[in-house]
Amino acid sequence: MENIIYKLKEKNLFKLVLGLGNLDFKEIEYIINIYSNTKTDIIDIPPNQKAIDIVFKELKNNNKNINDFLFSLSFAIENDKHNSFAFINNEKCKKCFKCIKQCHHKAIFIKDKNVVIDKTKCIGCQKCKCKAISYKNKYSVSDFDAINLANKNNVKIIELHASISKTKMIKQAFDNLNNNFDGIISVCFSREYLSEHKLIKLTDYFIKKREGKPLIIQADGFSMTGRENDYSSTINAVSCAQLFQKYLKFQNFYIFISGGTNEMTSQLAKLSNIQYAGITVGSYARRIIKNVPYKIAIENANRLVNKCKH
Ligand code: SF4
Ligand code: SF4
Repeated sequence: MENIIYKLKEKNLFKLVLGLGNLDFKEIEYIINIYSNTKTDIIDIPPNQKAIDIVFKELKNNNKNINDFLFSLSFAIENDKHNSFAFINNEKCKKCFKCIKQCHHKAIFIKDKNVVIDKTKCIGCQKCKCKAISYKNKYSVSDFDAINLANKNNVKIIELHASISKTKMIKQAFDNLNNNFDGIISVCFSREYLSEHKLIKLTDYFIKKREGKPLIIQADGFSMTGRENDYSSTINAVSCAQLFQKYLKFQNFYIFISGGTNEMTSQLAKLSNIQYAGITVGSYARRIIKNVPYKIAIENANRLVNKCKH
């Protein structure tokens, strides 16, 4: 644990997100293959034993020492969109095929003249909004399941995705983690569902309950976006981090910036004087290594990680 706290204090950490709902095991293997060749510090893994096994195996295949990385196990409160997948009602579908173009994860395709969604590829970003599409919970992982999985795999950080409007549910999940998990707790939330006032009140609640034990607040911007490499994609995440910094004045917690993060995030965060511990990148990190030759993928990944750590 001391080693983790030391790293958090070092700041400028790069956290790679495989995707909470990502059960495309081939993709997970490839992401690890590429990013194990960078200075990635933390790997955020989905709450799935097979995915965890693949991560560890691929690191070993690449002759990496697992102890050189920190791992964070993510799980989401019911109805948090990180935990959702899209579902098509074919009776309502007008076969306009717009959703196929909207999905950057190639999760939607045509099969036997019907539009279908591959649940394993869908990450629940909800960009494919349409009357024929609804969203369901992907996992039913409770806080206790997450604790068991983390303990079984010696994972020292659990991240609670709490982008919902029900503060009572968030407090309950946090309390269960806080009372039953010995490691570090990270809470990821944003202004999408909670007012700034409620976010600050909740964070205050977490800090008091932690009684000095380490806490990470992951300030989420436009979650699961990360298409573009510009300031406007990442500004929401940086300003969310600024909110926590301004109102809570570093009361024993570490800020990570996530959601729409890219190669410009660290520059913008530094210009804004944010004292963050790390930058979390998911969608953008995965996009820049897709559909390019292996050598370019490694170059792209290294450029991103180095810029985030700069
Ligand atoms: S699900 Fe909606 S967007 Fe997709 S093809 Fe059907 S009608 Fe069009
Ligand atoms: S757009 Fe997002 S939510 Fe819709 S199918 Fe693709 S990954 Fe899933």
